Parts: sequence; structure tokens; C-alpha cells
Amino acid sequence: MTGSQSPLTVTFWGVRGSTPVPGPNTARYGGNTPCVEVRAGDSILVLDAGTGIQSFGREMRESTDEPVKLDLFLTHTHWDHIQGLPFFQLAYDPRNEINIIGPKRDGASLIDCLERQMLPPNFPVPFSLLQGVKSVTEIGAGESMTFGAATVTAQFLNHPNESMGYRIDCGDKSLAYCLDHEHGDSEEIHSGLAALAKNTDMLVFDAAYSDEEYPSFRGWGHSTWQEGYKTAQALDVQTLALAGFNPGVVDTDLDAIKAQVDELPGAVVIATEGQTHTL
Ligand SMILES: [Zn+2]
Repeated sequence: MTGSQSPLTVTFWGVRGSTPVPGPNTARYGGNTPCVEVRAGDSILVLDAGTGIQSFGREMRESTDEPVKLDLFLTHTHWDHIQGLPFFQLAYDPRNEINIIGPKRDGASLIDCLERQMLPPNFPVPFSLLQGVKSVTEIGAGESMTFGAATVTAQFLNHPNESMGYRIDCGDKSLAYCLDHEHGDSEEIHSGLAALAKNTDMLVFDAAYSDEEYPSFRGWGHSTWQEGYKTAQALDVQTLALAGFNPGVVDTDLDAIKAQVDELPGAVVIATEGQTHTL
């Protein structure tokens, strides 16, 4: 299925946090909420089910009519990370094998959270009609799962109601996916983030704000592109991918951030919908 020589490719399908922001001011980088497709060896791993997962599903359906097998990792069940699931066409096809994996948390089972978002009268179709979904599994912090040649490791990040970050290792390549996360007041890097991102080829980081905007959003569970840069440098990350942009951040703001990071040592990309990175 991959047709790729590299063991790990990363395609962004949604790069915004909180709510989709379609429109002319967000058209270039994209206006969907988080979804990332990872091809790891022969495995298809999908990170988060924000509204970007619809574009991913359409592209998959256009590329093949065969049954699809994929593993979908959810960082947490805040709306923007699951709101694409009820509209993910591949999940309704009973021929498909979609296995959902998400955080093990006290007091809120993953299956309950996913079912509740689709309860009438808020939504007419129950979760049970997603007949392509074959399993829902919880993963705890520090646990790993193996998918063919790929290993996925989970760690909690710093976020209200808890968010799980993931690291994917495949061959000699690695990706850390760390949405949503807020840096702390201390200079020390959060232990979960450090464990996931150390020495990775790519770190996808929560760059909802800039340092200048951050004081108004302290405690909301998100970080800044400048903190992402410092973190990536400290953890010897090859390429930092900034993502999870606040809804008020428009394309020209991201152009300005790009101009600044292009002046800095090290590779930094602005995550852009439809763009694929081969690690
Ligand atoms: Zn969140």
C-alpha cells in the first residue's frame, strides 16, 4: 500500500486547533482540525480524528476500492480531535478494519466518550453504525504497541483532561506527535514530552500561540512556536513541525512565523494540509 522507499512518511490533513476555520484567510495552510496520516512500513497509522480525517478518507477511497486496514490513535477526546469521526466515510464500510486506540484515563472510558458524541438528539447516527470500526482499545502512559515494523509508544502530556502524546518508531526513523500540550513555568522540559521526542526525526508540536499572545491563554493547555523551537533544539529533534494553530491565526500570521523560523538554525516546517514529509 505504501509504495514508499522510506519507512516513515507523514501527511498533514488538519493543522488547526479548537474549531475548523475554513475561508480565504486559512486556505493556504488549511482550516481543518487535527489529523495526520503516517505510513510506517506497510502499516497505515492515523493520528487524531479532527475534521481533516474526511479529506484523508476521500483520498484513500479515490486511491483504492479495496478494504482498508488502519489504526487510528486519538490523543484525547476534546471535540476538535474526534469531531471528524462521525463523518469519516471509511468507518461506515463494514469491509474495513479500523482499530481505534486512545488514552486510558480515570473516570472516562474511551468507548463511552466516542459513543456520547454521537448520541441523539445531538447526532442521528449511533457509534454502533460505524461498522468499519472493529475495536476500541485504551493505551496507558509508558505502554507500547507494535504494528508490523512500527512501534507506537504513549505518554501523557500537560493538558486539561489529559492528552496522550505518541512516538512512532519504524526502522531507523521516528516521529513524535505532541498535540495538545502546554509547556510549564519551569525551564525543565515536561517528562512525557521529553521521553517521546528525544532524538526524533520529526516532532509535531502544539504551536497554538506565539510567546507574545501566550499570557492571555495561560492554563488553556497549549504552547507557543517559540517554546516548540526551544524544545526541539534541546531534544535534538531533526525537524520541528509546528501545528495546532489557534483559530485566530491566519495564513499571513503563519507566513510571518515561517519567515522568523527560516532565520534560525535547524529545520522547522509549518504543518500544511495535503503536504507529505518523508522522514
Ligand atoms: Zn485538547
